[in-house]
Amino acid sequence: MVCRRNRGMNKEKKGIVILGSTGSVGVNTLSVISQNPERFRVDGLSCHNNISLLIEQIETFSPKVVSVSEHQAPALRKMINERNLSVEVSEGLPGHIEVACYQNASLVVAAMVGAAGIEPVMAAIRHQKTIALANKESLVLAGSLLIAEAEQNGVQILPIDSEHNAIFQSLRDENPDHLDHITLTASGGPFRTLPKTRFKDITLEEALKHPNWDMGKKITIDSATMMNKCLEIIEAKWLFRIDPNQVKVLIHPQSIVHSMVTFKDASTISQMGTPDMRIPIANCLGYPDRIISGSSFLNLAETGTLSFETPDLDKFSTLRMAYDVLALGGGSPAALNGANEVLVDLFLKKKIPFIRIFEVLSDLVQQLKNLKNSLQTNETPYLFEINQISDAMSADGWGRDFALQAI
Ligand code: MG
Repeated sequence: MVCRRNRGMNKEKKGIVILGSTGSVGVNTLSVISQNPERFRVDGLSCHNNISLLIEQIETFSPKVVSVSEHQAPALRKMINERNLSVEVSEGLPGHIEVACYQNASLVVAAMVGAAGIEPVMAAIRHQKTIALANKESLVLAGSLLIAEAEQNGVQILPIDSEHNAIFQSLRDENPDHLDHITLTASGGPFRTLPKTRFKDITLEEALKHPNWDMGKKITIDSATMMNKCLEIIEAKWLFRIDPNQVKVLIHPQSIVHSMVTFKDASTISQMGTPDMRIPIANCLGYPDRIISGSSFLNLAETGTLSFETPDLDKFSTLRMAYDVLALGGGSPAALNGANEVLVDLFLKKKIPFIRIFEVLSDLVQQLKNLKNSLQTNETPYLFEINQISDAMSADGWGRDFALQAI
């Protein structure tokens, strides 16, 4: 025991880069790092806008490089000079890429929100960094490209998303041929028991109240529409290289069973824990070691009941859309995601009602099906085949335009 501990202590610290350090996953990652100062060194941080939090993180963790959006860089440099801090500041997409590829770092936590995360993640993979992936969009938009790049570079992608991390932990070193299916659990969000007829009256404040998880606004709305689970089905397809028909969804309101894997012999293995993002983050940071996450331990006697339900696909049509866009292939998932980002943004600004998100996304999937069956695909080949990131971005743009025109 003592021996193992010493070996751990003498190991060189793992250099970590966090892309999106001021968001919910970024903050939780730094919290796990604080619990394990003997193991980790923060080499780089990047964020979009929140430079007041970033400057605190710089003071606490002393990274070598940071990056922010162009318009925040001058203010950040001023704050750094005033405080006499020694850190290199870069800006914009080239800056985020520079941080992602910082030479001494071995693990990149990809926690940026949205499509802006893809290029830095791809660059980090090309530089052979292990990726702890929280940025769903990189897999949803360009899963085929990202996984191919990771395989080519021998890079491991560790999933931070709690469901995928649970599957990753449950699969361990099992032969993929032994797998029958995986089951993504879903809390069902705040409107699980609300009749569909009342969806038209849902307010922003109601949609922002997630029963179990404390997360950013975008993902909280995505949980309320179950678009989050839709994106997670797509994510699972790429991460675990499985047929979408092998991905099932099960409603589990307590968010204790984070997902499960069922093998051919009908054995089901699951990972459980309190709903605390520090658990999957600690799993990724420490892998293959187990480290302190800072989360409280599960007390099932206190939880009392774990319940499960089949999802209502009529109410949450977003779940069906995952299988539809995966069958359409190419940039179709990117188009759906782009449209959803626009719609959530409009809903957060109180410009459209909640129900409109479902309606527009459903129209978009129908439009994609029509295009695939018509001759018009030649004008938008990227919707059904992507060969490079720009194809995924074109499909994303197509989805955004579709949503804006629909509103
Ligand atoms: Mg999740």
